[in-house]
Amino acid sequence: MVVGGGPVGSTVAAHASGLQTMVVEEHDAIGSPVQCTGIIHPRVVKMAEAEETVINTITGLKLYFPGGRVLEVPSDEVKAKIIDRRRFDEICSQRAQDAGADILTGHSFKGFVRAGDKVKIKLEGPQGERFVITPLIVGADGYKSGVARDAGMGAFKEIVRGIQVDLDVELEDQVKAEVFIGEKVAPGFFAWVLPCGEYTRVGLCISQGHGTPNEYLNALLKRRGLENAKRRELVSGAIPIGPLKRTIADNIMVVGDAAGHVKPLSGGGLYTGMKAAQLAAQTAMDAVEKGDFSEHSLAPYEEHWRADIGKELERGVLIRKAYVGMSDENLDELGKLLDREDAKKVLSTGDIDYPSKLVRPMLRTLPSLLKFSPQIIRSLIRREQGR
Ligand SMILES: Cc1cc2nc3c(=O)[nH]c(=O)nc-3n(C[C@H](O)[C@H](O)[C@H](O)COP(=O)(O)OP(=O)(O)OC[C@H]3O[C@@H](n4cnc5c(N)ncnc54)[C@H](O)[C@@H]3O)c2cc1C
Repeated sequence: MVVGGGPVGSTVAAHASGLQTMVVEEHDAIGSPVQCTGIIHPRVVKMAEAEETVINTITGLKLYFPGGRVLEVPSDEVKAKIIDRRRFDEICSQRAQDAGADILTGHSFKGFVRAGDKVKIKLEGPQGERFVITPLIVGADGYKSGVARDAGMGAFKEIVRGIQVDLDVELEDQVKAEVFIGEKVAPGFFAWVLPCGEYTRVGLCISQGHGTPNEYLNALLKRRGLENAKRRELVSGAIPIGPLKRTIADNIMVVGDAAGHVKPLSGGGLYTGMKAAQLAAQTAMDAVEKGDFSEHSLAPYEEHWRADIGKELERGVLIRKAYVGMSDENLDELGKLLDREDAKKVLSTGDIDYPSKLVRPMLRTLPSLLKFSPQIIRSLIRREQGR
């Protein structure tokens, strides 16, 4: 059984071909409410076969530093696609159904007890309580995961909170993502303004202990001259930072936001979660074949995601540590250093799913960057070299 009918739970079910899978989703409709900006690398659109969800294509970046410097980083490559996240989730769910999964909406997972070598799950729906016995639960139930909590899998390093609004305004530049950094605009994270054709998506996330995201959103809208624009959809949500130390137990795997499979620098979790979902599905199929759902039998899932996306997540945690340690003065100093053609050229090669790959070429171009966080940067390089 998969708990959570988001893109990650649906991807597990879509890849667990031949298994009798049920996806339980607490909301009545798949894909609602949306809690996402929907900016993803084209490879993720391909993974989900969701070309029809694309709203816009991004090729460049405009980076706003606290002191007012704006770094424009154009590129000849497609860097990201902005998608309709609701439709994206529906397509992922349809793929799960095409693979034979049953989707049970309007039902919440309320806990489990062990029943021999299986687990007995309590669900709550419109008709009241219901119990299901299953050999395997895949918890893809988001950052507040009840499955991870009940299995005692620990807590995230940190949770950041976000808010976003779509505005009835058409930006002149339709190919660049605007990103704003600094204590006053989005402490501990960043803010974004994205062109989506005839409307514009504006949002931000902040670390805990800095007030409410809404205050910062209002300030950003004012700064960007958008405070009087007509509002469409308002979205809010939270993002877990840093993967859980343990994502398996007897009869249980957790995946996606539930496991902290989210890039710590950008908060993007679709690529990492869906990759981990494919690995979880493979381990589930192997466990069914062996008839063994013990933690030991599920260990390949944990080993494989750590060897794959886990490395980038670890590096992301380190880079984030360096980033949040920087004052606005440090960020402005960084902006000044980066404001030259060779550095911008390196930046333009960045991949949103693998931001840590920029560290080495950036240091080769600007060795003085080391001064911002020498220990962290050296540790990153050692990890990349496998030491
Ligand atoms: C403001 C914001 C902007 C973001 N922008 C991006 C972005 O641009 N790009 C990107 O890649 N990522 C982005 N993310 C992150 C992305 O939304 C998540 O990483 C992604 O949704 C993870 O998918 P998931 O299936 O693991 O979890 P979710 O999408 O959270 O799905 C979990 C599902 O489980 C269900 N559920 C929860 N509890 C239960 C229960 N007890 N019983 C039954 N069902 C339950 C929920 O209803 C939900 O449908 C953003 C997040 C936020 C908050």
